[in-house]
Amino acid sequence: MEQNFNPEFMKRAIQLSRKASLDDKTGGVFGAVIVKDGKIISEGYNQVITTKDPTWHAEMQAIREASKKLGSPHLKGCVMYTSAECCPMCLATAYWAHLDHIYYAATTQDALKYGDFADVDILDEIRKDPKKRRIGMSEHMRPEAVEVWKEFAGQKDKVHY
Ligand SMILES: [Zn+2]
Repeated sequence: MEQNFNPEFMKRAIQLSRKASLDDKTGGVFGAVIVKDGKIISEGYNQVITTKDPTWHAEMQAIREASKKLGSPHLKGCVMYTSAECCPMCLATAYWAHLDHIYYAATTQDALKYGDFADVDILDEIRKDPKKRRIGMSEHMRPEAVEVWKEFAGQKDKVHY
């Protein structure tokens, strides 16, 4: 996939990062586009500040709109160009979306150095034992929750993706 990198698509992602952070001031320095068959099918830019939605990252918007356009939660044959390396949420979403490849420009270190974006901290948190994470995690009422899983597993027409 690497040889298919097209600088025009990255230029568009970077342009969207400028729109988000400098022109419209909707959020951080992040823009992204999804490309299929050599064409941009969706775009996104960070709008965390204006929407007050902590998940409104450029990549999330681009992935949501591409899925809507293709009518599928899976983006087979699609690649993403993002102005900055994905945060853990967007990276996980890229896996759920089954993207073929991610091209990024700025790194998480750049986001930390120039914008104090703490992606690196979150990556460190994920690597920790769940009991030692900043946001504590604890398991409760598993049998009640598993009852629903059991019924789900027994369904003949269960939804799966
Ligand atoms: Zn993100």
